[in-house]
Amino acid sequence: MRLIETISELKSWRKNANGTVGFVPTMGALHAGHAELLRRMHETSDIRVLSIFVNPTQFGPKEDFNQYPRTLESDLALAQECGVDVVFFPKAEELYPEGYSTYVEETELSQPLCGRFRPGHFRGVTTIVLKLFNIIQPQLAFFGLKDAQQFFVLKRMVKDLNLDIDLEGVPTVRESDGLAMSSRNRYLSPQAREKAPALFHELRKCADRIMHSRAHGEEDSKTAIEESRFALSAQGFDVQYFDFIKITKSTELLAVAAYLEGTRLIDNVILSQAMA
Ligand code: AMP
Repeated sequence: MRLIETISELKSWRKNANGTVGFVPTMGALHAGHAELLRRMHETSDIRVLSIFVNPTQFGPKEDFNQYPRTLESDLALAQECGVDVVFFPKAEELYPEGYSTYVEETELSQPLCGRFRPGHFRGVTTIVLKLFNIIQPQLAFFGLKDAQQFFVLKRMVKDLNLDIDLEGVPTVRESDGLAMSSRNRYLSPQAREKAPALFHELRKCADRIMHSRAHGEEDSKTAIEESRFALSAQGFDVQYFDFIKITKSTELLAVAAYLEGTRLIDNVILSQAMA
């Protein structure tokens, strides 16, 4: 496994790389959710690139950029286990040198849900992902549906900017009690960790209720959402949003973001698949 820290070394490696190049971008602190993306990449790509970069431009000024967990040594061990060929882990100055002033913005799907509460977040995500795509030039790239809004924003960017890259959305990997795996779960106290799966259980319950009422010719998503929001608040969650948005004609996203003892957790279900 080759470790690369600079853009110039990555680009000269890329010139000689033959075959289908797959790419998994991450911010590190890798867990079984990331490993699943690496496994999908292993199945489908001849050459497998992982990036580890805590991207400053996607964090707000009051967010956890400085506290974000950094665990490079164990990340490299997992990457090796998962058959990664190249790990790209540049420093912030490498990607954003002094005088950097160019950003890419998707302006529709990035507006609701997390976009409402994290101004500039998706602009940071689309900018860094496009930069990494330009540097690595993959044919395939893998993203988790744990961050479904991010996935749909990036799909739209790829379509709108005519990039020849196939994005694959990988289903959310969960703990056995339903909690979506996340690098931020390590912030949870034992008590908060015990409560945290309620987020997914309320999402499922709400999705089932919406689908059930639709099957009976009613459209009662508002009440179902209000009740789930209330149930989460009663359990100590500070709910930022619990809402759904239309992505395409057949795809809706029911998503939640909530703070639990100061840790921000997100989760979602894709409604058209919730019935499947
Ligand atoms: P992050 O390191 O949090 O930026 O995540 C890197 C990639 O891993 C993103 O595409 C995430 O959606 C994906 N990911 C994170 N957690 C999970 C999970 N529990 N299941 C599937 N994919 C995940």
